[in-house]
Amino acid sequence: MPEQEILRNYINGKWTHSKQKDALEVKNPAFDEIISSVPLTTNNEVSAAIEDANKAFSEWRRTPVVKRIQYLFKFKDLLENNLDDIARTITRESGKTFAESQGELRRAIENVEVACGAPILSQGYNNEDIANGIDEMMIRQPLGVTAIISPFNFPAMIPFWFMPYAIVTGNTCIVKPSERVPNTMDKIFKLVDQLDLPPGVLNMVHGDQQVAETLIQNPLVQSISFVGSTHVAKKVYANAAAHGKRVQASGGAKNPLIILPDADPEMTSKIVIDSAFGCAGQRCLAASIAITVGDAKNKFRDALCDQANSLKVGYGLDQGVQMGPVISNTSKNRIHSLIDEGKKEGVTVTIDGRNPGGDLKNGYFIKPTILEDINPSHKLAKTEIFGPVLSLMHVKTVNDAIEIINNGQYGNMACLFTSSGSAARKFRYEANAGNIGINIGVAAPMAFFPFGGWKDSFFGDLHGQGRNAFEFFTRQKVVIERWPNVWSRKF
Ligand code: NAD
Repeated sequence: MPEQEILRNYINGKWTHSKQKDALEVKNPAFDEIISSVPLTTNNEVSAAIEDANKAFSEWRRTPVVKRIQYLFKFKDLLENNLDDIARTITRESGKTFAESQGELRRAIENVEVACGAPILSQGYNNEDIANGIDEMMIRQPLGVTAIISPFNFPAMIPFWFMPYAIVTGNTCIVKPSERVPNTMDKIFKLVDQLDLPPGVLNMVHGDQQVAETLIQNPLVQSISFVGSTHVAKKVYANAAAHGKRVQASGGAKNPLIILPDADPEMTSKIVIDSAFGCAGQRCLAASIAITVGDAKNKFRDALCDQANSLKVGYGLDQGVQMGPVISNTSKNRIHSLIDEGKKEGVTVTIDGRNPGGDLKNGYFIKPTILEDINPSHKLAKTEIFGPVLSLMHVKTVNDAIEIINNGQYGNMACLFTSSGSAARKFRYEANAGNIGINIGVAAPMAFFPFGGWKDSFFGDLHGQGRNAFEFFTRQKVVIERWPNVWSRKF
């Protein structure tokens, strides 16, 4: 592939080509067409980028926070002004619809806005006269070089759970986008280039697992913010901890939505279907299992199937399209085989969206798929599918449903649909998940709340976004000062 079509890294304020000529193809999943290629940056180049970021740290941490936020104000303006252009790139490489891409960018921008609250959000506290003439205070200081490793499904939003907070608190930062969707960050870093940040403050290196591991293992990198699948999150958590790093690692999910018989009929089925099939089911907060309780099965089953069948599937930039393809052929085949395995276990494929044909035959499309006769012991009930497949399960009581949730491996999100306040309260109290929705299908926290799950959906303590991110990207220093004879001295 000619050099100009291979994406470049952004290191120390400059666009640079990797010396490594091996590059991975990036495809538009709606057509199986190559749109660019992404370099597998070498270890030496990544290490040099880390050294540049480390050099930039000493000046950047001295830059007053009121000045640092000015860069974010400018960044917000640039992102707003280029929103549709970036959204088109997200759609082209990730397959989601244009409206979903716009929504994703809005969420990214919200994090820039929240990070502009840094002067207040990174405040410490102090106590005067803890003893005669002695004061004690806690101040927050930045860590140094920070690194972000992100997944394919939200190429714009997820780096923003961390990036604005990392730099506004005085750290320097290196972003490694997912090798499957690198064009979005390429677009966004063209805006970063216009910010006139001091070189080395914000950098981007492309590549796969190897680049991520170099970032994790380099002693100059102080913290790792990772989002991706659980098996990788676990490895990243262990690897980063073994290298003495601060780490936050978000993993996969298997989100259940519980429907009680008293749930609002129209709103509920629409919201459940949006949750299951929005972004083609490739959201870490996508509904994967809808559990009807008691009579709810009779009330909601047909409505859910009708809603699923009514979705218009196609290329996300085409008018009226409500659902796009999955990210890759590998992903499509993996989902096909999971459904086949489910059939062997006795699962019924009520709506089979595989191999849709027609205009969709070249892309990695699976139309909305609904499964029934599934129980918690089936593989399909335990495995993250990460595609447009919704399993319908049925139980007798809310307690049965909560038991299924709490026995599950993951704990990213659990939702309840009801008109009963006491059922909602019980659910909120008892369900073991980091994000709870009551009559909400995608309980995605706003930028001023922490974003993260429980159990195998998150490894670490402090999450991305908001105050948690400020705490993650700063360390506390407690200072005790004695100034004797202050009152008796003449000044
Ligand atoms: P993935 O785990 O395959 O890749 C994520 C990132 O990790 C990529 O940048 C990849 O290059 C890098 N990587 C791969 N192997 C690595 C290794 N051994 N060490 C270090 N880095 C490595 O994930 P994906 O397929 O891109 O994303 C989908 C997954 O992400 C799903 O499981 C989804 O649930 C999850 N996700 C979770 C959240 C959340 O908030 N919990 C949000 C979005 C996505």
